[in-house]
Amino acid sequence: MGALVVKKHLNEPLSLHCWNKLGGPAECLIDIETQDELVRVLSESHANQIPVRVLGLGSNLLVSDGGVSGVVIRLKGEFTNFSFDGNTMHAGAGADLRKVIPESVRFGLDGLWQLAGFPATIGGALAMNAGGRWGEISDTLSRCSGFLPNGKPYEQTVKECQFSYRRSQLRGIVTQATFQLRAGDPRQMRRKLKKVMAEKASTQPLGANSPSSGCAFRNPLIGEHRCSAGQLIDEAGGKGMRVGGASVSAEHANFIVTTPEATSGEVMDLMHQVQQLVAEHHKVNLIPEVVQWPNSKDH
Ligand SMILES: Cc1cc2nc3c(=O)[nH]c(=O)nc-3n(C[C@H](O)[C@H](O)[C@H](O)COP(=O)(O)OP(=O)(O)OC[C@H]3O[C@@H](n4cnc5c(N)ncnc54)[C@H](O)[C@@H]3O)c2cc1C
Repeated sequence: MGALVVKKHLNEPLSLHCWNKLGGPAECLIDIETQDELVRVLSESHANQIPVRVLGLGSNLLVSDGGVSGVVIRLKGEFTNFSFDGNTMHAGAGADLRKVIPESVRFGLDGLWQLAGFPATIGGALAMNAGGRWGEISDTLSRCSGFLPNGKPYEQTVKECQFSYRRSQLRGIVTQATFQLRAGDPRQMRRKLKKVMAEKASTQPLGANSPSSGCAFRNPLIGEHRCSAGQLIDEAGGKGMRVGGASVSAEHANFIVTTPEATSGEVMDLMHQVQQLVAEHHKVNLIPEVVQWPNSKDH
């Protein structure tokens, strides 16, 4: 990255940038402000066979204590912009969903309040097809575009993204997305927004003293039915299980919360113990929802 004039931080602890406050250093963390910078970082890394990963708000990530080699980028600057044009919203992948949602409601646009109550960038939400019982981000997406690992641009239709429950097949790093929203009544939507937030606050550990990566495990399909992983863990007696500073939340058994002394290794050990417990009790294999670096397939 020698010739690039970009904001880069060497050996930057990712614990400072992940929601769970865990994780070792990134060899090089770069905040990308413009498309030109992105293309240059990608093509230079590709030419030198340096892996590039993209970090959103780190709210669904578990980075190992040893950290990750190569480059981690964050989409900042122009990638955090979003705008409305009639019922259409154009958003950069670095835009914070928690800022986008209230604006969409203020503009009287329906389709995004359903995603309230969790931290996400637009890019991270698309990668995870984030959502819940009110809807998923893919419901209103009309197209997205971005850059392949070699720095070449790509466009993708919704069908090509192959969205499913908390999954997508993005071709590379998404940088822009267009959403088709519906006209709605701001007052009604504000009420619904409040309801969603209140429900989340009463069922999930959301306080600053309970850092987590959201749901640790995917809700498993049992027959035709997607069951609550939290309920299975709870029924198996998992609430309160602990390894070091990591414990299964008493509020929601699919959340693993940590103390400031916790390590990612302790979270991983606890996840294995919970998987064993549920396998023994219910004969169900829980699959992690949380993305693990450096192990999971990532961008
Ligand atoms: C308290 C709490 C509650 C939560 N509740 C929910 C919930 O109700 N529903 C839900 O779905 N999730 C929930 N989550 C999980 C999390 O908020 C979502 O998965 C969110 O979409 C992750 O976004 P992010 O920007 O933080 O992505 P990150 O966690 O930073 O990254 C997640 C993945 O997305 C990839 N990624 C990020 N940006 C891009 C990009 N531009 N292009 C390609 N790939 C990219 C990353 O490489 C990584 O693989 C919760 C998390 C917390 C901490």
